[in-house]
Amino acid sequence: MTTATALPHIAHLINGQSAQGGTRSQDVFNPATGQAQKRVLLADKPTTAQAITNAQAAFPAWRATPPLKRARVMSQLKVLLEQHAEELCALITSEHGKVLPDALGELQRGIENVEYASYCPELLKGEHSKNVGPAIDSWSEFQPLGVCAGITPFNFPAMVPLWMWPMAVACGNTFVLKPSERDPSSTLRIAELALEAGLPPGVLNVVHGDKEAVDTLLLDARVKAISFVGSTPVAEHIYSTGCANGKRVQALGGAKNHAVVMPDADVTNAVSALMGAAFGSCGERCMAIPLVVAVGDATADAVMAGLTVEIAKMKVGPGTTPGMDMGPLVTKAHLDKVKAYVDQGINDGATLVVDGRALSVAGFEGGYFLGPCLFDHVKPGMKIYQEEIFGPVLGMVRVQTLQEAMDLIDAHAYGNGTCIFTRDGEAARYFTDNIQVGMVGVNVALPVPVACHSFGGWKRSLFGDLSAYGPDAVRFYTQRKTITQRWSASSAREGAVFSFPSSR
Ligand code: NAD
Repeated sequence: MTTATALPHIAHLINGQSAQGGTRSQDVFNPATGQAQKRVLLADKPTTAQAITNAQAAFPAWRATPPLKRARVMSQLKVLLEQHAEELCALITSEHGKVLPDALGELQRGIENVEYASYCPELLKGEHSKNVGPAIDSWSEFQPLGVCAGITPFNFPAMVPLWMWPMAVACGNTFVLKPSERDPSSTLRIAELALEAGLPPGVLNVVHGDKEAVDTLLLDARVKAISFVGSTPVAEHIYSTGCANGKRVQALGGAKNHAVVMPDADVTNAVSALMGAAFGSCGERCMAIPLVVAVGDATADAVMAGLTVEIAKMKVGPGTTPGMDMGPLVTKAHLDKVKAYVDQGINDGATLVVDGRALSVAGFEGGYFLGPCLFDHVKPGMKIYQEEIFGPVLGMVRVQTLQEAMDLIDAHAYGNGTCIFTRDGEAARYFTDNIQVGMVGVNVALPVPVACHSFGGWKRSLFGDLSAYGPDAVRFYTQRKTITQRWSASSAREGAVFSFPSSR
């Protein structure tokens, strides 16, 4: 943290107003230059509590707003997001570092979640049964919970918040969002656009901050549900603390995704797909592929040769420069951490085939750049196999059979995503049927579900019962109420019945 005061401040958005709050603040850097460009306020407990108070005050009127009117706000937001795409992508790239086309891809995925939220009148219809007994009808409806909160990571500052709050508010809840303090500007700008789209003040509030703000959300009894996306240690803290405080919690954590390449795979296509999945967004994606598991040495040699050729063609530089494939890592601390993993891999005996550590980008020497790194002969006991690196580091593990590959994946602590490259339908079906991972691709390296499905890993990649967005989000952000109602004819008279009511 520095004490620079001349930098523009990023404020909270509470009750539809830009708000100060909290005595602490933190620099927000441009990762391509290494320069601090803004300071973000870090909310203290009273500021966060104020956001909750406003969200709670906005709840009764918003809950009573017809779903069709809520849907129209979402439809208008979609239009505004499309109109402001260039501005939003510039904000994403200036604070995250990813290349502009990648920022646009993230924004588009976010917009699709807004579009799905605009189907809320259909999604909230409920279930109805007539004549479950004499003159008795029964139905289930899905009611909002109240104030919900979201805590989001740095790597998708536009998309991940859009996984959460649009569906939450479309379901009639109000929301307090705590974006990543490392790149908060695009998240905040989208919330401003939501106001412009017609979201009433207080329905969506944004507080910037760190653990102090998050812990306030976790402990405040007025917050009914928490959605979290971030690293696994924090996800566990959020899940256990939130549950202990009586909240509904979904906490999505880290990942270490394996891609299996079978001997019969189309190697050229597999290599192209692996390049994007390993190095896109500098490897800072929870669905990135940091491990390729080649079945058979001939497959491994062919894939390794293809990757080496393709890596040599990669262009690394500022995300705003047209034609770049990969931008910088998000912070200096993260750059140092990823480099330390590369050192560790060498010390542990893996073969570093491509070394990106010496990369320097002319004119951007202060940026957090790391060239693509490629390891061969990675073994399951190594740290670079076990731990999430979250950088442009791809490792190859060599195995002899599909079953050996699957056993490795199943034994891994994380279970977010995986994929298989093959032309063999039987192998693909066996893999998708049995692998212990939540999201699986067949000849698709990044099997990120579209907005009408839900997103969630298994094992230590998700804590909670329901996944993010899609149909699971409708269930997460609502509670079922079942009503049984009798309207007998006015002439009907019934005596007391002491046996348990049934249809016999
Ligand atoms: P992070 O866990 O450091 O931070 C996530 C959020 O938690 C931020 O808003 C941060 O302010 C807050 N936070 C950090 N430390 C905290 C603490 N001690 N107590 C309370 N709150 C705290 O994650 P990150 O570095 O921003 O994001 C990268 C991680 O997110 C990776 O592990 C990646 O795999 C994961 N991720 C997972 C998914 C998924 O869907 N499973 C998606 C995107 C990112």
